[in-house]
Amino acid sequence: MSDTDTTTGPNADGEGSGLRTPIVAVLGHVDHGKTSLLDKIRGSAVIEGEAGAITQHIGATAVPLDVISELAGSLIDPSDFDLPGLLFIDTPGHHSFSTLRARGGALADIAVLVVDVNDGFQPQTLEALDILKRTQTPFVVAANKIDTTPGWNPQEDAPTLRTIDAQSDRAENTLNQRLYEIIGELSENGFSADMYWRVQDFRGNIGVVPVSALTGEGVPDLLTVLMGLSQRYMKEDMEVNLSGPGAGTVLEVKEERGFGTTLDVVLYDGVVRTDDTIVVGGKNEPIVTEVRALLQPRPLAEIRTEKRFEQVEEVTAAAGVKIAAPDLDDAIAGAPVRVARGRPVEEVVAAVEAELAEIEVDTAENGIVVKADTLGSLEAIANALEEAEVPIVRAEVGDVAPRDVAVASTADDPKHEVILAFNVDVLPDAEQQARERDIRVFEDDVIYQLVDEYEEFVAEIERAQQ
Ligand code: GDP
Repeated sequence: MSDTDTTTGPNADGEGSGLRTPIVAVLGHVDHGKTSLLDKIRGSAVIEGEAGAITQHIGATAVPLDVISELAGSLIDPSDFDLPGLLFIDTPGHHSFSTLRARGGALADIAVLVVDVNDGFQPQTLEALDILKRTQTPFVVAANKIDTTPGWNPQEDAPTLRTIDAQSDRAENTLNQRLYEIIGELSENGFSADMYWRVQDFRGNIGVVPVSALTGEGVPDLLTVLMGLSQRYMKEDMEVNLSGPGAGTVLEVKEERGFGTTLDVVLYDGVVRTDDTIVVGGKNEPIVTEVRALLQPRPLAEIRTEKRFEQVEEVTAAAGVKIAAPDLDDAIAGAPVRVARGRPVEEVVAAVEAELAEIEVDTAENGIVVKADTLGSLEAIANALEEAEVPIVRAEVGDVAPRDVAVASTADDPKHEVILAFNVDVLPDAEQQARERDIRVFEDDVIYQLVDEYEEFVAEIERAQQ
């Protein structure tokens, strides 16, 4: 790993500006195969790639263009692309997707919506579609688990990229029929989808790519279509200034032995260097601190537990990196991180404050308490509650703590003696106090279910009052 010791990111060897790696998120209903698909992509890429071709990242996996083109064989001609490859965010699911914002938009440039061909569209598929629509994120549907379904007849002359004949085989229980159902559901949700998915054939429609995360069939096609999609939707902000101050989003705030509290960050713009001053969104106010160390996982990190990380001097977008710095305890997952190089710190603090203000949730004098794992999910729940006309008295990122119970206990209405906990833990003290004070804590990791549960509870109270 000679020249990757100091720099990561596919553009790192150049100066000036260039196109950065598109950031890809994987979404879909639980058990439809998001994790398996990511594992398969990583696995295939590692097998196909030259040693060291896959850059390990924190929270993300970079698959360079040459590896994709090797995997895709005749499907693509790498000279057609100006993009360095694809950076997959490793945490699948739409929680992390809606969390991962960059300057008010989605951090991911494109997305893969995984749909189990046997199961079709499910609640979280619809929720994911909503988010994709709202954030205007281009996406591809990976129709997964094709190995379990009959009726998939690969064409001899097109060993990896196949088309489904629109008029052919729509018999019951065949893969073709399932794919048509998916296309139908997409169209019910306002997306026109293509029956076939030739890279050359993008017409503004959603590509549906049949894949098996188990056997790997279709994965090269998926990567190819993703490259085509990125190329097509290449946005201006994919131009990174290769020496400009870095901008990123916090994935996680984590205690790391030997380093204290660290941030797992996806850097979407510019460069971050050791000793840079950074500004990070914090619980009370932006945190201004200095980068002590930039960490990447060591190859085979799992067996070298003693030294899981290696230090690098700088990281170029797009990349996942762990940042070690003092005073990070109050940093918030989902918050922005900005490097304050070449600009007065106050300006950068103001920029971070402005970004955070966009996500702030309106609270009322009376209402329920909401806790969520990240800023993005907090915002998504707040939106759902606003639509349901449920007032919020306190909305915060973090586990349910005694202080939340105390706030819920002061409610003026039994309907408000409630805490909604999205993807967070309830601390034991808080749990006990909630029990003692008869505060209801609803926990879920699906937004609409959380809101439904609460609405049922309200309906019950109203019935009891009649
Ligand atoms: P996630 O919840 O969306 O991340 O789903 P997982 O990746 O954990 O997959 C859920 C289950 O489906 C696991 O038991 C996987 O082994 C299985 N699975 C995922 N993809 C495939 C596939 O393509 N074919 C088959 N047969 N099983 C799959």
